[in-house]
Amino acid sequence: MPTVKYQKDETVMGRWPGSSLYYQVKVVGFDSKSQLYTVIYKDGTELELKEQDIRSAAGFQLRSRSRSRSRSPGRRRSRSRSPARTTRRSSSRTAAAVAAAAITESAKESSRKDAKVKDTPEADLSSVTKEAENNSNNKHEKKEENNTANKVNEKPEAKVDAEPEKNQGRYNLRRRKDDGDAKPVETKAEEPEEKEAKPAPAPTVATTLDFGGKIGAYFWLLFLPAWVLFLLLQVNMEDPSLVNFPPPLPPLETLWDTQAFGIVILWILFQALLYVLPVGKLSEGMPLRTGERLKYRTNGFFAIVVSALVAVAAVYQGIDLTYIHSNFLQLSVATFLISVLLSIYLYIRSRYVSADQLALGGNSGNVVYDFFKGRELNPRIKNFDLKFFCEMRPGLIGWCLINFAMALAEMKQQGLDAPSYAMILVNVFQLLYVVDGLWNEEAILTTMDLMHDGFGFMLAFGDLVWVPFTYTLQAYYLVSHPNPLSPLVVALIVTLKLVGFYIFRKSNSEKNAFRRNPSDPTLSYLKTIPTATGKSLLVSGWWGVVRHPNYLGDLIMALAWSLPCGFSHLLPWYYMIYFIILLVHRDSRDMSNCRRKYGSAWDEYCRTVRYRIIPRVY
Ligand code: NDP
Repeated sequence: MPTVKYQKDETVMGRWPGSSLYYQVKVVGFDSKSQLYTVIYKDGTELELKEQDIRSAAGFQLRSRSRSRSRSPGRRRSRSRSPARTTRRSSSRTAAAVAAAAITESAKESSRKDAKVKDTPEADLSSVTKEAENNSNNKHEKKEENNTANKVNEKPEAKVDAEPEKNQGRYNLRRRKDDGDAKPVETKAEEPEEKEAKPAPAPTVATTLDFGGKIGAYFWLLFLPAWVLFLLLQVNMEDPSLVNFPPPLPPLETLWDTQAFGIVILWILFQALLYVLPVGKLSEGMPLRTGERLKYRTNGFFAIVVSALVAVAAVYQGIDLTYIHSNFLQLSVATFLISVLLSIYLYIRSRYVSADQLALGGNSGNVVYDFFKGRELNPRIKNFDLKFFCEMRPGLIGWCLINFAMALAEMKQQGLDAPSYAMILVNVFQLLYVVDGLWNEEAILTTMDLMHDGFGFMLAFGDLVWVPFTYTLQAYYLVSHPNPLSPLVVALIVTLKLVGFYIFRKSNSEKNAFRRNPSDPTLSYLKTIPTATGKSLLVSGWWGVVRHPNYLGDLIMALAWSLPCGFSHLLPWYYMIYFIILLVHRDSRDMSNCRRKYGSAWDEYCRTVRYRIIPRVY
C-alpha cells in the first residue's frame, strides 16, 4: 500500500486552484487510485488536491516567515517606494497570520479575499509559488504560474499587485457563484479581519433577463396558452395544418367543464398524497446560497407504479378513460386555470420570503417578468416542495396516463383489438422516458430548473399544462390519423430510440454522479477543470464530446417519437421542432449562466470542448 503523507482529519495548507494562495484545510480522504487528497476548506468547499499542492501547516508557517524577513534588496526597495505598502507592512503579519486571515475571510467573502490577495504576497506566498510552478495538477494553472514566475524574476516588486489580476482573469479567484455576490461584499473589504466570515448577502436584483426581458414576459404570458389552444384545436381537425388559421373556435362556454376541473384537482391531490407518503429515499439537493441542503422525497417511481395500477384497475372497473380524449380541451383549460392560480400564489408568497430564498434570475423588480420567470427558488409548504412536485409528478405521470387513454381511444375509434404499432411505439418510448426520469429522480436535483430557476408561471404552466397536453400530441394525432408501420421500420425506429436513450442516460448520470461526489472513484478517470467556485467541470467522458451530450440524446429520442407518425402532417413533428428550439435556447441560457459562474474556467472548457450539442455540427 502506498504511504500517505497526510492523514485523515489532519489540518494542512492547501493551494487554491489557479493561485499561489494557500489556505488552511482539513484532509477528508485520500484516493490511492487517483492519488488525490480530498480536502475541505473552512467554508465547506471540498476540492481534490495533489500532494504537491498541500503543505504541512507548520512547515508552511516557518518557511514563509523566514522568507518574508530575508527578502532581496530589490524587494526591500519596493517596499519603501509605496507609502501604501509601507503601511500595510507595518502590520508585521506573518505568513501564518496572513493565511489564517485568508481562511477567516475564505471563499464566501469574495471581495474581501481580493483585498487579502493584495496583502498576501507581502508575507510572501511566492515562497510556495515557485514550487507550485512545477506541481500544478492542471496545465492551465501551470501556464499561468510560469508567467507569474517570469514576472517575479524580472520585476519582483511588480508581482505584488499584478498577480491577483492575472489570477482573476484566468480563474476568478474571487468567488463568483453568481454576479450578485460581488457588489455587496466589496464594501466589506475594510472590515476588521478578526470578524467571522458571514455568507454574502443575497443580491436583490437580477442581473440579466431571459426570454426577451420584460416585453418578452408579456409576450410569453399571452402566447404560450394561445399556442396550446391552437395546437389542440388543430389536432382535432381531420386535416391539421398551419394554414388553417385561425382554426374554428368552439363556443367559449364549452371550454369550461366543472367535472374536468374536479378530475384535474383529484389527480393533483392523488399525486400529492403519493408524494408525501413516507415511501422511498430522502435525497439531498445541491447546496443553496445559504449553504443549506434541502431534502426531497424521491419516490417518483413508486408514484408511477401505483398510478399505473390504479389506471388499469379503473379500466377493469369499467371507467371509460377515453373521456380524456373526448374532453381534452376542457381538461387542458382546467389545468391552465390551476397553473395560473398556483402562479399567483407563488408570486404573492415570494414577496414575504427573505432575499436569500429568491432565484437570481426572477428577481428583476418588474412584476410581470418576475411573475413569469418565478421569484422564489424553492417554495415549500413545510416539507412539501412545490417546484419539485410539479416538475416530476402530476404533469409527467399525467402525460403517460393521457397516452394510455389515447391508445384506448384509438382502439375504440378505429375498431382495433390492440393499439397500432405506431401508437405502441409512441406510448412505450414516452413511458420509458418518464419512468427513467422517475427512477433517476434524484438527478433532477442537479438540473437548471431545480438549481437556478425560480418557481413561477413559466415552470408551473410548463409542468402542468405544456408537458401533459402538448407532449401527448403524437398519441392524440394517431387516434384519428393511422400510420401503418412495417416491422423493419419499427426495428429501425426502436434502434434509434435506444441509441438516444443510451446517450441521454449515460451523460446525465455521469454529470449527476460527479456533482454529487466529485471524488467518486468510479469517475477518477475523468479529466476536470477546477473553477474558482470550488466546483470542477468535466472535460472528458460524455461532457468532453459536446457541452450538452444529454441534449443530443434527448433530441435523438425526440426524432424516434415523431417518426412513427409518418410525414403526412407537420403536427406530430411539432415536438421535435419545439424541442430543438427549446434546447438550443436552454443551451445558450446555460452557457451564459456558466460563463458568469465560472468565468475564465468556463471559457477554457468551451475552448477544449468546441461543440455545443452535435459533434462537428453545432
Ligand atoms: P443540464 O442537466 O445539462 O445541467 C446544466 C448544468 O450542468 C450547468 O448549469 C452546470 O451546472 C452543469 N454543467 C455543465 N457543464 C458541465 C461540465 N462540463 N461538468 C460538470 N457540470 C457541468 O441541463 P438541463 O437541466 O437543461 O437538462 C437536464 C436534462 O433534462 C437533459 O437531458 C435535458 O435534455 C432534459 N430536459 C428535457 C426537457 C423536456 O421537456 N423533455 C426540458 C428540459 C430539459 P453546475 O456547474 O452549477 O452544476
